[in-house]
Amino acid sequence: MKLDGLTHIAFDADDTLWGHEHIFVDAKARCLELLEPFMTPGMDLEQELYRFERENLKIFGYGVKGFVLSMIETALEISHQQISGADIQRIIDLGKEMLLHPIDLLPYVREAVMTLEDHFSIMVITKGDLFDQENKLARSGLADRFPVVEIVSEKNEATYRDILQRHAIDPAKFLMIGNSLRSDVLPVLAAGGRALHLPHEYTWHHERVEETEHTGYLQPDSMEEAVKMIMEARS
Ligand SMILES: [Mg+2]
Repeated sequence: MKLDGLTHIAFDADDTLWGHEHIFVDAKARCLELLEPFMTPGMDLEQELYRFERENLKIFGYGVKGFVLSMIETALEISHQQISGADIQRIIDLGKEMLLHPIDLLPYVREAVMTLEDHFSIMVITKGDLFDQENKLARSGLADRFPVVEIVSEKNEATYRDILQRHAIDPAKFLMIGNSLRSDVLPVLAAGGRALHLPHEYTWHHERVEETEHTGYLQPDSMEEAVKMIMEARS
């Protein structure tokens, strides 16, 4: 895949612009401590929780609020409804902490945005809870840099086709940069666009896909290398 002839570049937000999944990893670890007394030998809390998360995605969508409700349901089930009101409150407080977590931009993100905005139309395409995503973007200090921000409930081929059409973007001139093969790469390629995969330290079960033989996307080692590749393709 080549990076020449681009007009539009979109960034994923969570774990592409700023770290995000580690907040969930920490919250799960703290929830695990809380639920330890109710766990039976061999029980995999992560799996129990994911069962509720997966089912609840269809009802609550992505985001922290749905995750908190899934933690509460998991706690109720594995404690056979014996968990105390005080412990439920602790789970809710954990969720509030997650929502108020400081936004730490990932390395070279600010430089990437400043460089690319001079040469391309840049945008953000992220999925999740509207209020939370808007809030994080505002707190990131980058909100003013993106003329277009799309917050969607799911990132699939149809979503990307719709966004490209609404903004009159030629898919062949569109590049998506993101950490998830499932959400940021494969559906973009299916919609006729191009993609750069920037893997992050943590990937949630739900975003994992089998290692793919797909050669239609590039996988730079860092955001800095990604920008270098894009800028070199221009000259
Ligand atoms: Mg992401």
